[in-house]
Amino acid sequence: MTIIRVALDVPVDTLFDYRAPDATATDIGRRVVVPFGRKIAVGVILETLSATQVPAERVRHALKIIRDLPPLAAEDLRLLRFAADYYHHPLGAVIMGALPTRLRRVAAPSRKRTRNVLAVTAAAAPPPVVPAPRLTAEQLGATEAVRARLGNFQAFLLLGVTGSGKTEVYLHAMAAALAAGQQALLLVPEIALTPQLEALVVHRFPEIPMVSLHSGLAASERLEHWRAARDGRARIVLGTRLAVFAPLPELGLIVVDEEQDASFKQAEGLRYSARDLAVVRARQRDIPVVLGSATPALETYHNAVSGRYAMLPLPSRIGAPPPRIACIDTRREKLAEGLSERLLAGVRGCLARQEQALVFVNRRGYAPVLFCRACGWIPGCRRCSARLVLHRQERRLRCHHCGHAVPTPVACPGCGNPDLAPIGHGTQRVEEALERCFPDARILRIDRDTTSRRRAWQSMRQRIKDREVDILVGTQIIAKGHDFPHLNLVAVLNADSQLYSTDFRAAERLFALLTQVAGRAGRGDKQGEVLIQTEFPQHPLYAALARQDYRAFADDALAERRQAGFPPFVHQALLRAEAPRLAAALEFLTDAARTGRSLDDRISIFDPVPAAMPRRAGRERAQLLVQSESRAQLQGFLRAWRAQLGSSRAYRARWAIDVDPLEF
Ligand code: ADP
Ligand code: ZN
Ligand code: ZN
Repeated sequence: MTIIRVALDVPVDTLFDYRAPDATATDIGRRVVVPFGRKIAVGVILETLSATQVPAERVRHALKIIRDLPPLAAEDLRLLRFAADYYHHPLGAVIMGALPTRLRRVAAPSRKRTRNVLAVTAAAAPPPVVPAPRLTAEQLGATEAVRARLGNFQAFLLLGVTGSGKTEVYLHAMAAALAAGQQALLLVPEIALTPQLEALVVHRFPEIPMVSLHSGLAASERLEHWRAARDGRARIVLGTRLAVFAPLPELGLIVVDEEQDASFKQAEGLRYSARDLAVVRARQRDIPVVLGSATPALETYHNAVSGRYAMLPLPSRIGAPPPRIACIDTRREKLAEGLSERLLAGVRGCLARQEQALVFVNRRGYAPVLFCRACGWIPGCRRCSARLVLHRQERRLRCHHCGHAVPTPVACPGCGNPDLAPIGHGTQRVEEALERCFPDARILRIDRDTTSRRRAWQSMRQRIKDREVDILVGTQIIAKGHDFPHLNLVAVLNADSQLYSTDFRAAERLFALLTQVAGRAGRGDKQGEVLIQTEFPQHPLYAALARQDYRAFADDALAERRQAGFPPFVHQALLRAEAPRLAAALEFLTDAARTGRSLDDRISIFDPVPAAMPRRAGRERAQLLVQSESRAQLQGFLRAWRAQLGSSRAYRARWAIDVDPLEF
């Protein structure tokens, strides 16, 4: 009697045994259709056994082993097992979640291949082949260091200032892996925001089949790309975080671009960090992994300075010298609609020289707050603990967390005051102010509201390149990896709110964001200029930024973290709970904390607290922080704790464990 042990997409840790007389060990990793309760489901075979502990009358027959695709390889399953263990998520859900949706369904995917892989890439690739530039000595050193480790595990931090040519190092290291007959995996934060990277890869390797993997693909495309990766036809996979699970039998190199980017961490379900799993995968497979950034996560930087990762520095910018960065002290300057005279003079100078200027405001909408001066009324979202943002052109107040929108009231509902005051500045308001100051300038606003339509952002980029735009007003959408050769001034508004945030990672994120934004200035042959409006011009963060000295900033920040006992010097996990009432979530967590304390007194278990935003989309959220200086100890504790937490139905709360949380 052959028994197969099957992983199914269910919210419990159990695997399920079925009879399958025709199964052999070669079916491990294959999909199988099984009866499950009154339904039928697709699962993945993890083991074949000769007997089972389950009473014979309860073991059902598998319906069909699906053999039209090669099985998941042992090493793919190994990575998925690691992810399930480390992030404390059910194995079946992890395995099924890593498959393209078409493979999770009972209906078999069609065997017909819609397009071949080369055809897929050709759409993005105009024919001319771009020759590789001669590498600088720094780039060459970095590339050679990676090449020398092909076939061995080594994590590298490629620490390169913006414009230092990190991409060329990725491409050359990938070329070395490809030449050695290996596949290469390039992970990026968001493909929609970095289309020129995709185009560059295609240009550089016109003969090499490449596929992309990201959530924007149609289900059929995703399946086709996944298959091409699985059977080795695709030699390069360019993808977002989910691509870290792509089956790649000949994988020889992983590159993670902008490794600090928060989008590498999934915020629900399996709360994994694709950056961290990339390192795990490289170690399991004995291959190098390159993490690239101008402003790495402090965890990564710490790994590099402590010698666990090899540091590859690219300290000099190619072409134009780095931008001059200066602060404008808003306590001394008079502001008109949030804009200082010095900032306006900078923009005026740009226009006179026929260069482009970017005004960076990391907040969309017109004003973040609408306020009644007579009675103090401020409109908030009914479903979230958040204020509604005024979108003036649409005459609506919108919640940026749940999408809830209401018409802008003509008078205060509390006291009837018709004179409601917008407080603070969003992109729309800045755009309006600039239109008044520069009536002849062509102004373009770039935020989620103006780029939500497909291809909108693509055509905007073209207009910027073609110099059909003089002033850009934009949010962080524009901060990431775009090369605008005529953009020479970047002005930053209201960055200060992040300086004194309660989130211990806020300063790190601000430094990374401002470095990216500043990197947009002066990308041609001209030196750029960056002006930061701030009430705290003496703040050390701005001083380090002005010197483009990430390492000074990071060394200070790490010293503070060490002293205060924050990551990377401790390891953290959150138990998150949500319920219709906050009290229920807190009660569940209070009991969980008690259970935890009785399990292991070496773990620091804090008191349950409401989440930073306690109400979101109608659910109340609370959390409980646990931490330890030892990762192994924390993991052991989480395993035991999770087994005890069991069902929270009594509390009407849903819970999840978030290991290495980034959001509090
Ligand atoms: P980073 O990603 O480090 O910010 P990029 O990879 O975007 O920097 O490179 C910045 C610019 O320098 C790009 O326009 C790139 O084409 C160019 N570049 C990179 N390496 C070289 C080189 N060795 N010689 C000339 N130009 C280069
Ligand atoms: Zn009022
Ligand atoms: Zn809301």
